[in-house]
Amino acid sequence: IPVDPFDLVIFGGTGDLARRKILPALFRRFCAGQMQEGTRIIGAARAEMDDVDYRAFVAEALIEFNDGHGCEEGTIAAFQRILSYVTLDALGENGWADLAAKMHDGRVRAFYFSVGPSLFGALAEKLHEHGMADSDTRIVVEKPFGRDLSTAKALNRALADHFDEGQIYRIDHYLGKETVQNLMAIRFGNMLFEPLWNSQYVDHIQITVAETVGVGGRGEYYDRSGAMRDMVQNHLMQLLCLIAMEPPAKFEPDSVRDEKLKVIRALDEVLPDQIVRGQYLAEGDKPGYLDHVETTDSTTESFIALKVHISNWRWAGTPFYLRTGKRLKARSSEIAVVFKATPHSIFGPEAGRHRNILTIRLQPNEGIDLDVTIKEPGPGGMRLIDVPLDMTFTEALGPDAEDVADAYERLIMDVVRGNQTLFMRGDEVEAAWAWTDPIIAGWETRGDDPIAYESGSSGPEEALALMHRDGRKWREVR
Ligand code: NAD
Repeated sequence: IPVDPFDLVIFGGTGDLARRKILPALFRRFCAGQMQEGTRIIGAARAEMDDVDYRAFVAEALIEFNDGHGCEEGTIAAFQRILSYVTLDALGENGWADLAAKMHDGRVRAFYFSVGPSLFGALAEKLHEHGMADSDTRIVVEKPFGRDLSTAKALNRALADHFDEGQIYRIDHYLGKETVQNLMAIRFGNMLFEPLWNSQYVDHIQITVAETVGVGGRGEYYDRSGAMRDMVQNHLMQLLCLIAMEPPAKFEPDSVRDEKLKVIRALDEVLPDQIVRGQYLAEGDKPGYLDHVETTDSTTESFIALKVHISNWRWAGTPFYLRTGKRLKARSSEIAVVFKATPHSIFGPEAGRHRNILTIRLQPNEGIDLDVTIKEPGPGGMRLIDVPLDMTFTEALGPDAEDVADAYERLIMDVVRGNQTLFMRGDEVEAAWAWTDPIIAGWETRGDDPIAYESGSSGPEEALALMHRDGRKWREVR
């Protein structure tokens, strides 16, 4: 569905994120016919460029990062016509009057802050000073939203000085993933699951986000954050919220976000023996974590596994196990809801006891699996096996599903439409930091070092032990 013409300004429009994600996403929405005549995308950054240079710069990014999708002759040229550029300094006066002169009244205006968070406050202030912010203005801010509770609060205050909460879109691209939204459809659109979605029937839940890449060129940035800040506080926390929250009254921003907030506030403290931190070693000619960073004795973690309880009526007694890391065996992200075994087996001990597992795969092959127990075919008597009911979207929904919009496409268009459901509210982010801070502070006061793990493994052995001692095991990373 086409949206009314809008203006989108990308602060940091020459940066890595703009090139790899934001511009390709906009291009795909353009190709899909969602942008009407008159829509404008304006890059704004420090680099000295004019419109012609910027159009060429964007075309190169599209060719490099869009897998050739929609790059037929003519489409890039058509997209280039809606692009322009302003050289601008967030911290000085340079460029602001030029940007203000470009604005059209009476249409949706969105400003994407694709710059480091230290510039968020300055940008918000300048937008006001130069009369570019009205009630129809939206701002989009990227992670990291602070590095602890106090910096997140400061950022929230700096933005709140100039914008209402309803104008601030804190992006977490995990929420834009097709499967993540499907998780809500599965939970709240079916009668089958929700009655079982509690500690009476669910043994435990596992959330895994495994990457094969290391920190690479981002070593310096990463070393200041680590897996807890870079992944757990935001992405894994958001997944946990959607899995665990009560049914919101409506699929609307504050209904959904109120329920997510309640989950975060009900999270138990994580004790030191419920969390494992790791740091990957070199492997052959692939550098180890410490080869990427300046501090050769860095204690920043590239892997986390933890167990947490949610203290409320629904989840008391059902642990949630979260795990994420770099340089692991496979690139795979999934949520597994592991149901309890049946209370009694009528088939006797040799048939085995089985559990249903609902797996929501975020990557690769976005889709949903449900392990169901059936009789092993054949004359061998009543032996039970688990078979997956597999709903890989591309198979179930046909080739159109291959086009499942990239998370950034959906989220940027949500900004234009003014729908905040899939964006984090300020109090959610603060609550997540309030839970994360004491964990990190504990490592610092105790002087805990991360455990070294082999590249290409599933992380440190201690992470396996975290589940083993509860009589459970992690699902294979594959
Ligand atoms: P980058 O360093 O590649 O680009 C930064 C951009 O900001 C450039 O366009 C630069 O010109 C502009 N800029 C810097 N200082 C400026 C100033 N004073 N005035 C005007 N423009 C200025 O950074 P990036 O990787 O694109 O990241 C941008 C933001 O997105 C950061 O907050 C980062 O943490 C976040 N982020 C990045 C990624 C990623 O994959 N790159 C992923 C998630 C979040």
